[in-house]
Amino acid sequence: MSISPLMPVYPRCGVRPVRGEHCHLIDEDGTRYLDFASGIAVNLLGHSHEGLIGAIQRQAETLMHVSNLYGSPQGEALAQRLVDVTFADTVFFTNSGAEAVETAIKTARAYHQHEDGDANRTELITFTNAFHGRTMATISASNQEKMHKGFEPLLPGFVYCEFDDLEAARALVGPRTAGFLVEPIQGEGGIRPASQAFMQGLRDLADEHDLMLVLDEVQCGVARTGKFYAHEHYGVDPDILASAKGIGGGFPLGACLATEKAARGMTFGTHGSTYGGNPLAMAAGTAVMDAVANEAFLAEVTEKGERLRARLEQFIGNYPELFDSVRGKGLMLGLRMKIESRPFFVHLRDNHQLMTVAAGDQTLRVLPPLVAGDAEFDEFFDKLSAGAASFTMPEPA
Ligand SMILES: *Cc1c(COP(=O)(O)O)cnc(C)c1O
Repeated sequence: MSISPLMPVYPRCGVRPVRGEHCHLIDEDGTRYLDFASGIAVNLLGHSHEGLIGAIQRQAETLMHVSNLYGSPQGEALAQRLVDVTFADTVFFTNSGAEAVETAIKTARAYHQHEDGDANRTELITFTNAFHGRTMATISASNQEKMHKGFEPLLPGFVYCEFDDLEAARALVGPRTAGFLVEPIQGEGGIRPASQAFMQGLRDLADEHDLMLVLDEVQCGVARTGKFYAHEHYGVDPDILASAKGIGGGFPLGACLATEKAARGMTFGTHGSTYGGNPLAMAAGTAVMDAVANEAFLAEVTEKGERLRARLEQFIGNYPELFDSVRGKGLMLGLRMKIESRPFFVHLRDNHQLMTVAAGDQTLRVLPPLVAGDAEFDEFFDKLSAGAASFTMPEPA
């Protein structure tokens, strides 16, 4: 037997964290890492956040899981809070981002297959270098061949368009178009924010042709950019939105949000999830909302994001051979590099105990916990400077 007991789909590195303390991870052998990856934009409140731990502990003692066959006071309360602070009128809770996107895709299709709709409208226009998850529908929604290989046939119903190209999107709208599925700020694709004209243009096209604007805010949502959801930066509301990652602060939780109109097809018996919205997940989600869904916290994220960004802009000037530019919003920042970002990301991790995340388009993602402050930023720049100074490009194999 040579296959590992853990199915070997991840190229796991040698770092094996066993404990978290605020913005640090501690390895099996006691090594401390500064965590500016946050489990890929998940640990908004860092590690060991008392409010989140307490909420999960109390709920675990009270009632951990109960079927969606029964009424859910916990689910109703969290859904109401999300409705109160967003464009949405209704929420379906999931266990992951891909499941939230799947729910969003089903909601968009069901809108058109409703008796008042046009059942020919089954296709979603999606965008190059998008990432929507690893299920069959969500890999089919992405044009990235590396995710398709070995898993064909893909599901039909997705048409790929160049990201941030409004005219290309307009040209693809036809009688089979159900809507658009897009990340307002691409995460895996390399921290690429859509332009204002593109987001507004998609909204206008959707209004003009009765299409669903579906946003994937799994990575950019939930306070990460200084707004509760990133689309608020654009003043453009979606019809449907997929959320996950940060929303549970580390507890597996996702959500599909929709307007009443968009959710018209999501009636009794059309959808479900055994774990989705269970009391334990609702307790975690509520604790995260308590911490982040207020103007003061969001303003702080914005302000910290501006400080971090200004320091990054200044820093990259010292290494023009390595870095091209800084991009992103709030505390969802990317360093566009002049080389592939992966070797540098590995160097920072292995030689300077700094966690970041590599992404597409030669970009290094900087995703600190939203509770990071000046002490962590200082430590980050110490490690980043030392890492840039000591970095040598690996020889091509
Ligand atoms: C991570 C991510 C997903 C998938 O979320 P999972 O929880 O891994 O299923 C979907 N969309 C975006 C934008 C993501 O960043």
